[in-house]
Amino acid sequence: MPEKREESNGSDLVASAEFLGLRFTKRIGSKRFYTCVECGARGRLHWDLARNTGHCKECDTAFGPMQLLKPLVDKTGQALTADRLKALADHIGVLPEVFEGRGLGFQRGGYVVPILDQEGELGSLRWCKPGCLIEYFPGCPRMMWGLEGLRDKDRPDAPILLCDSEFNAMAVDFSRTKNGVHAVVLGMPGPSLGDLVIASGYDPTSLPAVVTAVDRNAKWLSQLIDSYQSHRRN
Ligand SMILES: [Zn+2]
Repeated sequence: MPEKREESNGSDLVASAEFLGLRFTKRIGSKRFYTCVECGARGRLHWDLARNTGHCKECDTAFGPMQLLKPLVDKTGQALTADRLKALADHIGVLPEVFEGRGLGFQRGGYVVPILDQEGELGSLRWCKPGCLIEYFPGCPRMMWGLEGLRDKDRPDAPILLCDSEFNAMAVDFSRTKNGVHAVVLGMPGPSLGDLVIASGYDPTSLPAVVTAVDRNAKWLSQLIDSYQSHRRN
């Protein structure tokens, strides 16, 4: 896994895509040539490192960063066997069912965790090996997990259950669904309770370790969500 860097750019992003299985053919200047993630044509996907965009000369598909990553992430889902899912669940101490339907994948000894934006589209990616801290893929923004729930028409006025880390959020969301609890579950990136300090108007000392219920209209909450997304550089 490439190291996380403060500044992300096209090189970071294609390094992440290559890590996920994007197949490199050649490089000319700031352009890289890959096997297309949509049609499979070898060397026909041209990626512009400076602009962070790509285009396939074969199937005529235009790519932004997430359009490039999405099919690669979906493919890593095939490697997430029942044994691997159970190993992750055992490590965290939850039922394997907690992770069903979350779009998780497995690549090079670690778990790929997609983070969706408020429209339900792929917005970022995280990766972790059991026993290690969950990391962002280079070139991907920091985002809260579960933002798509804010747009759920069945839960327009539901309170927010704020969790520390994506995996805790998945466990809480699993329990919420099973018990019919009316709420939207959000997970802060990794165990990052310290981030709450930057949210004005909130007392972080009153935050329980795993989950807390908060008013969805609280100004500090939208500031916190925005503070992560403002890290988006691509
Ligand atoms: Zn193509």
